[in-house]
Amino acid sequence: MNPNEIVCNSIYKDLSKIRSEFPVLHQKVNGGPLIYLDNAATTQKPLSVIHAVDEYYQCYNSNIHRGVHHLSQKATLAYEGSRVKIARFINARYSHEIIFNKGTTDGINMMAYCFNKKFLKKGDVVLISAMEHHANIVPWQIFGQENGVELRVVPIDASGELNMDAFRSMLNEKVKLVSVTYVSNTLGTVNPVKEIIKMAHRQNIPVLLDAAQAIAHMAIDVQELDVDFMVFSGHKMYGPTGIGVLYAKETWLEAMPPHQGGGDMIKEVTFERSTYNRLPYKFEAGTPAISSAIGLGVAVDYLEAIGMPEIAAYEHELTAHLIGSLTEIEELRLIGNAKNHAGAASFVISGHHNSDIGELLNQQGIAVRTGHHCTQPLMKIFNIKGTVRASLALYNTHTEIEDFISGLKNAISILK
Ligand code: PLP
Repeated sequence: MNPNEIVCNSIYKDLSKIRSEFPVLHQKVNGGPLIYLDNAATTQKPLSVIHAVDEYYQCYNSNIHRGVHHLSQKATLAYEGSRVKIARFINARYSHEIIFNKGTTDGINMMAYCFNKKFLKKGDVVLISAMEHHANIVPWQIFGQENGVELRVVPIDASGELNMDAFRSMLNEKVKLVSVTYVSNTLGTVNPVKEIIKMAHRQNIPVLLDAAQAIAHMAIDVQELDVDFMVFSGHKMYGPTGIGVLYAKETWLEAMPPHQGGGDMIKEVTFERSTYNRLPYKFEAGTPAISSAIGLGVAVDYLEAIGMPEIAAYEHELTAHLIGSLTEIEELRLIGNAKNHAGAASFVISGHHNSDIGELLNQQGIAVRTGHHCTQPLMKIFNIKGTVRASLALYNTHTEIEDFISGLKNAISILK
């Protein structure tokens, strides 16, 4: 694609202002200006998020809930305010459908525990896809295998798209949950989740979406999708680490057993038995990551101020530029080239190890990720050990993509 043909979205006319809000981007690495293309692993944080976390510790650090004193009330208001912002951001019906946790991995582990404890029995099936992150494979094995619950895998085609005919034929009365990723962290494939949810619901099967790679790239409306469960991580959407969200429909949360016991999640405790707190507290045992939850709320403010549709449109242009330029490199094999693509592009360079390419890019100040990206079964399907992955965020530029491509060509020529 000729970069001159790219029409920039109006909000992005002042991209330098957006970039100025991310201090980490303005540094040199190995003599070159940092080009950060490892956003699928974690995004950088805007000043507003950094300041919010800082302000919490400087001005009102305190434990939340039950505190009668000023600082505790202030912290509680900020923490609960963040829950409300997140509920609005994904259009949840109620803010108590937002459960704070450590992140996507934590959310899926909780789901695997709760489902195996209450809703799954020997012979039942959980359906996942071939492009899942280990976080949506291993918890089902840990909690399901003992229970005799089978994990079945919907295949993908050569371009990295889900085989929807296979998905349709795999839906039967044994399937008790469909758990799939919205966007593949390795391939960048955007799955047709609305269709997936509709098809599963026709057979009364609930759906869990792993939105770790979707949440920062597109507007998500959980009511419009009618999704039953959704998990995502704060640090992949410009928020702090150590905080994430499980969204679930109220009826499911009422029916699910708590996965952890301790402070805050109880109504009444005796030495004989305990009763549990109302939602969402039933699922938030112990002191949470208060500052991170507050920071995540500010990250949501940040995203909303730019606008998710604007971000999606701009990143769409960037992704097309990135993939178009990559495919022009002769020695390069793109791993996954789905029609609906977001965030990440993965590739291998024939005859060269992905980590050598990554290191040579690093020497030029370019940050990419190499390896299996926590998708070892997917690597097996493509018959490779790993890839080089470049992944985008709202602050990346077309110039950075051009510099990345010339850095990549440079790396290939050094290795020849
Ligand atoms: N699922 C997907 C699709 C991911 O990309 C990731 C992280 O890369 C995870 C789950 C795990 O997220 P976290 O490490 O934040 O728990």
